[in-house]
Amino acid sequence: MKAVAVFPHKREVRVITDAPEPRLQSPTQVKVRTREIGVCGTDKEIVEFVYGSPPPGSDHLIMGHECLGEVVGVGEAVRGLKRGDWVVPRVRRPCPHATCPACRGGSPDFCITGDYTERGIKGAHGFAAEHFVEDAAYLHRVPDALKDVAVLTEPLTIAEKALRQVERFQDRLPWKAGPGRALVLGAGPVGQLGAMALLRRGYATTVYSRSPKPNAKAAAVEALGAPYISSKEVRPEELVRRAGKADVIYEAAGVAKAALETLKALGANGVCVLTGVPSKEEPFEVAPVLKQVVLGNQVLVGTVNAAAADFDMALEDLGHFRARWPGGLERLLCTEHSPEDFRDVVTGKKAGGIKDVIRFI
Ligand code: BGC
Repeated sequence: MKAVAVFPHKREVRVITDAPEPRLQSPTQVKVRTREIGVCGTDKEIVEFVYGSPPPGSDHLIMGHECLGEVVGVGEAVRGLKRGDWVVPRVRRPCPHATCPACRGGSPDFCITGDYTERGIKGAHGFAAEHFVEDAAYLHRVPDALKDVAVLTEPLTIAEKALRQVERFQDRLPWKAGPGRALVLGAGPVGQLGAMALLRRGYATTVYSRSPKPNAKAAAVEALGAPYISSKEVRPEELVRRAGKADVIYEAAGVAKAALETLKALGANGVCVLTGVPSKEEPFEVAPVLKQVVLGNQVLVGTVNAAAADFDMALEDLGHFRARWPGGLERLLCTEHSPEDFRDVVTGKKAGGIKDVIRFI
């Protein structure tokens, strides 16, 4: 079977054709034919050999964690899924430790031991192969009408988990806080989907990103009816003068300096959610930032991965986004790439869209 694999020791990324065809090994498993694999910054780090790990005993890792596929076989105990259904899989699987309350409680996205596995990332093969087998419990059925955009489900789950937490944080306030103002830092796929999720929840949302207009990301934001402002042209202080302070900052740029600078635009009692993983060391003066966080009763929270409920909510939201912004999700996608292009797409050599997608069938 064909698959895209990274060989960390040999420092190679290539299509292999001898990956074993996976078979159902338990009655609760499902066999899936991969249709699309989305690529992201995590994949870039893996193909640059700075992140990720193969399954124990394997010299390679099959890539791919953002996936859409078609069910081609179901074990006899599987309920609610049948051949021909479209599905998206979750990424993380629980650690084995009895003492991990998160994993034992069914929330591996909050694993405390770090010994979880993530398909296509850490210790488990991913979905960038012609077929994969997965337990039905980790699959979410995609309504047929959403098939063409459902590869965006996984990156949208990042926003779903983040906003679910924001609501909980704002419950700490002694009054019921309305949605208010939101600032999204970064206009890549996570930022764009985060902006949609915030707009849907009623936040007056601005996207703040590096590149000056005109550019495709800015155009996609403006098509949502939200302002796009370039951080090269407008400093955070000026942003505040123009639009007021934000109740929520949704950081999706992965650049520490930009995140901390933008924090100047966070209002009293505000929440800043960090979703980007900064990859390089960056010096920055943190004392004034922490002073602001304390004196402003602010919440600075990191978030990673997502739960089953976030996948369900993401699929529901994709339906809403489609109805509210016809063509808005499609304009994020470039689905023309083949598995052979994986490395070039991930490293940006062949990228063509806001969200680049590898097409298997
Ligand atoms: C994935 C998450 C994963 C994280 C860290 C992200 O790209 O979307 O599911 O937990 O990388 O490995």
